[in-house]
Amino acid sequence: MAKPNRLRRLEDLVRAVAYRQTLIRHEYWPRTKLEELQQRRLTKLLDWATRKSPLYRELAGARGMTKPYSLQDFPIMDKKSYMERFDEIVTDPRLSLARLQEHMASVSGDEYYLGEYRVLTTAGSSGHKTVIAFNRKEWSLQEAASMRIASMMGVLPFSRKRPQIVTIGSPSPLHDSYRLPLSMDIGLYRYHVLPATAPVEELVCQLNTLQPYILRGFPSMLGLLVTEQILGRLDIRPCVVAGGGEPLSGELRKQVNSVWGGSVFDIYGTQEGLRAMECGVDGGMHIFEDLGIVEVVDEDNRPVPDGTLGHKILFTSLVGFTQPVIRYEISDMMVLAAEPCACGQPFRRILAINGRNDDVIYLEGPGGNKVAVHPVHFWDVLESYEAIRQYQVIHDPDGLRLRLVFAEGNGNIARSVREQLLHKLRTLGATCPSVSVELVTTLEDRSGNMGKWKNIVSNVDKSESVAATR
Ligand SMILES: [Zn+2]
Repeated sequence: MAKPNRLRRLEDLVRAVAYRQTLIRHEYWPRTKLEELQQRRLTKLLDWATRKSPLYRELAGARGMTKPYSLQDFPIMDKKSYMERFDEIVTDPRLSLARLQEHMASVSGDEYYLGEYRVLTTAGSSGHKTVIAFNRKEWSLQEAASMRIASMMGVLPFSRKRPQIVTIGSPSPLHDSYRLPLSMDIGLYRYHVLPATAPVEELVCQLNTLQPYILRGFPSMLGLLVTEQILGRLDIRPCVVAGGGEPLSGELRKQVNSVWGGSVFDIYGTQEGLRAMECGVDGGMHIFEDLGIVEVVDEDNRPVPDGTLGHKILFTSLVGFTQPVIRYEISDMMVLAAEPCACGQPFRRILAINGRNDDVIYLEGPGGNKVAVHPVHFWDVLESYEAIRQYQVIHDPDGLRLRLVFAEGNGNIARSVREQLLHKLRTLGATCPSVSVELVTTLEDRSGNMGKWKNIVSNVDKSESVAATR
């Protein structure tokens, strides 16, 4: 593994250790003190953006905005517009999209751009790739957030015996699941990254050698590894298992517990810097609100109350000054807890994430109208069967196909699953399309999209359907 700029990377990591201390102090603060910090950071960010970013400077002028700015005065930015106006958003004019793309094409490890920036891009699972550049201090904060997650899982820097932390993530250093561990593997922690796209036999062999203390990966990958352990080919004993990047089902949690016995954590994160970590006390994932602000809103961008499922979220990073991320639209549908957590942390919790709103499919209603079926409805039905280990819903022009991976000996529930799903669709007002159930041993094809698969796949042109519902 190439390790250029070793000294610089070490400086970034040392800074991250100091930041981590500060972050951990926030976990003991009362809510009011956290909100004051958010407000101070927000004021600084909005002030900076309207001075240094051409787009926000122009906007503040055109709208006649006056200080102190309010977040609600700023426009909502979807991924497409964000990337179209990238060159006007960044606060360092040297960071044009074209130049960053050129740089990214040459990245093979932890290289800096202009000796100052690390550049990431998203997997593009929602259709639009986003590019994010972090300056060195901003990157140290990303590292500090990652250390905070590790300490919540019981691993501290400077511990005498550095435990092995193995992440099975994206195969690309342009993605944070690969880049963060790579940038931090220089002394304090022992990080390894294995590509989720590698053949399972190869991963099994490497894991047997590495013997991870913490094992992190996409839940779909963890499910495969549980099977390998049951079959006796994999022989590891991780004390902590953490899933992220896809929903972590109750069933997988049980399997991991019965096979490895350690703690299981669910982690949520986006490359734009939004992070949340499962609380072991009261359930749900605490959002790192000292680093960002999350607004849960409906389809028309109106805030929804805590405890209610939103259609999407708007994220504002409180620590991104190179490339302001302000009211940035993320298509995850989530519910935040209405009550504070019994653990005493001031951060609000995500109680549920029910897929992405671009996974909504449209079925016929009785009058020829279109009925939107959100992924949450499939999740509701399929999650109620303990024997279903993984699933995929495929929407073809002539109906729905459910591909289910079952625990052994439970193939006879296929009929019941089909009936329950048809019942659910009828209650939503959709006339029943043909629904077929396929039992499969794997949901395969992990070669694309970083080794993840999509739970909902549509082979039907959505543009007409969306228009018909309006
Ligand atoms: Zn808690």
